[in-house]
Amino acid sequence: MILQQPVLDWLAPRRGEMEALLETLVNIDSFSPDKAGNDRVLEALAAFLAGEGVSFERIPVAEFGDVLKVTVGAGAGNAHALMMGHRDTVFPTGTVAARPYRKAGDRAYGPGVADMKSGLVLIAFVMKAFAETKSAPFPLVALFTGDEEIGSDASRPIIEASAVGARAVLNMEPGRASGNVVAARKGGLWMKIDVTGKAAHAGVNHEAGRSAIEALARKIPRLHALTDYATGITTNVGVIAGGIGHNTVASWASAEFDVRLVSESQRAPTLAAIEAILAAEDVPGTHAVGTHMSHRVPMEAAMSADLLARYRTAAAEIGFAADGEFTGGCADSGFTAAMGIPTLCGLGPVGEKAHTDEEVCHLDTLVPRAQAVAATLLSLA
Ligand SMILES: [Zn+2]
Repeated sequence: MILQQPVLDWLAPRRGEMEALLETLVNIDSFSPDKAGNDRVLEALAAFLAGEGVSFERIPVAEFGDVLKVTVGAGAGNAHALMMGHRDTVFPTGTVAARPYRKAGDRAYGPGVADMKSGLVLIAFVMKAFAETKSAPFPLVALFTGDEEIGSDASRPIIEASAVGARAVLNMEPGRASGNVVAARKGGLWMKIDVTGKAAHAGVNHEAGRSAIEALARKIPRLHALTDYATGITTNVGVIAGGIGHNTVASWASAEFDVRLVSESQRAPTLAAIEAILAAEDVPGTHAVGTHMSHRVPMEAAMSADLLARYRTAAAEIGFAADGEFTGGCADSGFTAAMGIPTLCGLGPVGEKAHTDEEVCHLDTLVPRAQAVAATLLSLA
């Protein structure tokens, strides 16, 4: 019977302590480009986790927050489980001073309170519960990264190296408002498009100009036409710029372009279609180049099915219902799912309105969702 496990008993009375750690973490600004802030969050987590049976590895990252890798439990040849959380937020440094952690009843507010400092708290308490009760059934590895909100380019190789040989990966992005977890996510890519043309005076020698703005404008409807709701592919030109003034034929134009995919098999044909659109000389004498800025792998539902079943059973025993959901948002879970490792996401405490000033964490889900993660890990023994 899962509920008699000492690790769940250890977690049961910890809500106050979990809230205290959440307040500490939220009140440290950790905007993705703020390395110092992200490293302070790392140090707060390491200070909380320090203790017997816990080992630490700090992997330096030059431009962003270092990666903290924490291990509890041992056993040669015993496949580990990996828990993941990102410390960075989308809120510029100084946001904490303007609106620090605030609690009202069962709700907490503040920058990153749901996405995903409450998830970091959950991981920290699950790790500590297994360490203090000396009951880790196999090695438990927690990875705390610092660049997820900007694409995880620095931490991706560390995530992948840490996932090799794992029996499961649990990613603690916020639980959905419904209480559900995330069983599948879109992947995609973000591309910068630069178009060059030829400048000319709009009155004196108009005919000598080659308008980069017109060339870009002709490409946008064709790029948007790649959207297909039936297959789940979406494309979006979200930013455009170009030209220097009304009286000059524009010699340059640029766009930021977002593409979302449901399965990795959609990537090659979609990229080929994009390349063909960019290569077309819609306005003679213009030239377009696409630069890949970041890349996300979809988390496909087949990789989460077994873990979802285990999590639902654990949640039911603890006393709440949770199903699996699909979301168009991307996360680090796509990297490990694409490696063929069973991966489940959205296991953090329930949160809403991420990336807004109204972001909120449901504090009454801190303990039960930590227990459900611990019970899911035990079920994998
Ligand atoms: Zn997140």
